[in-house]
Amino acid sequence: MAAPDKTTEEKASILIIYTGGTIGMVEDPKTGSLEPFNFEHLVDHVPELKDVGHLYSSIQFDPPLDSSQVGPEDWAKMAKAVADNYDKYDGFVILHGTDTMAYTASALSFMLENLNKPVIVTGSQLPIGRFRTDGKENLITSIEIAAAKKNNIAVVPEVCICFQEYLLRGNRCKKENADYFQAFETFNYPPLAHIGVEIEIDEDVVYKPETVKPLIPHYAMDPNVIVLKILPGISPAILKGMLSIPGLKGVVMETFGVGNAPSFDWFIEILKEATSKGIVIVNVTQCMIGSVAMDIYDTGEAMLDAGIICGYDITTESAATKMMYLFGAGFSSDKVKEYMQCSLIGEMTIHKTTEN
Ligand code: ASP
Repeated sequence: MAAPDKTTEEKASILIIYTGGTIGMVEDPKTGSLEPFNFEHLVDHVPELKDVGHLYSSIQFDPPLDSSQVGPEDWAKMAKAVADNYDKYDGFVILHGTDTMAYTASALSFMLENLNKPVIVTGSQLPIGRFRTDGKENLITSIEIAAAKKNNIAVVPEVCICFQEYLLRGNRCKKENADYFQAFETFNYPPLAHIGVEIEIDEDVVYKPETVKPLIPHYAMDPNVIVLKILPGISPAILKGMLSIPGLKGVVMETFGVGNAPSFDWFIEILKEATSKGIVIVNVTQCMIGSVAMDIYDTGEAMLDAGIICGYDITTESAATKMMYLFGAGFSSDKVKEYMQCSLIGEMTIHKTTEN
């Protein structure tokens, strides 16, 4: 459906949370490099904001951050900004750098339990002050979507990334392009909206909470999680070294194709040793599209026996932040394993090839 006509709807109130990123950066005249700048500068370049037809207020991170500097403490600040202002606003727009935006959107989807208002994360590839910027369009469209209501209920009550032509589920996103304006994609899930002349929201694929419950924000994220990309030729010493990191609790293991990996005895033995110590290892694919199915090849079966769990079609960004959230919430390894195999908030689709 198209976003409701704002002239016929009551004005919505939107909170813009400016965290930094290219969208608000300016060029240092001496070095020519881009540096984060404040929100007023950003607003000066978007006079259209006055006519957007919705009420908006803003808060900003001080200093604004390049998203390569954003981590669990900053996610907690964003979650808190939403939680503290939840009743005062109809929707939230988070301005953020694109480099780690998929991690932030994934993390927030887990941290904001029972969310039933839009949290739209956006940014841009070119700073807002630059000719041909994509920032203005992304910001204005995000506000429109954050404000969209039908029968007084938010049309998109989930954490999303709005970028260029698409509105995408946040915990399904990957940054796919460093050069083009269309920087994000959800390879295993359809877009929630196509953004063109109209904003065409596909309500059938939007996450709808079954019942409206009070928001429960979670701020603790456990950083003892790593991503381990399996490489042809990986050595026992490297694998053992990585899985023996003190304090390690969770591993997102990126394997080949449908979840395939070397079948050497030493490989399986080292994994088994780690899982027997309570380390949770989830198998995700290095492919952009498709799902892990551990019952197709012998190695998959051996990994299942070694206590490795199947991540189906979850992204690495989502799997890593989900584990950080689950361990941060204090769940035992067994519980983390259980929750990693169910979809908590639309982050994965469970594909069963045979009964297992
Ligand atoms: N380095 C920037 C950031 O992620 C890139 C961007 O915003 O596009 O903060």
